[in-house]
Amino acid sequence: MVLEQAQGALAVEDAPVCRHHWVIEPANGRYSRGECRNCHQVRTFENSIYIGGDDEE
Ligand SMILES: [Zn+2]
Repeated sequence: MVLEQAQGALAVEDAPVCRHHWVIEPANGRYSRGECRNCHQVRTFENSIYIGGDDEE
C-alpha cells in the first residue's frame, strides 16, 4: 500500500523526537534548571541576564 505514514512530520526512525517543552525553574545564580514537560529530560540553561564574566565556562 501507500506509505502514508512516512510522509508526516514524525517520519523519524531512530529515537523518538520530543519537541521539548522546557519548564525552567527560577534563576538560581547563573544557571537555571529546566525540565521537559513531555519527556522529563533535564537540561541546564544559562541565564543571559547574569552580569559577570562573559567568557567563563
Ligand atoms: Zn522533551
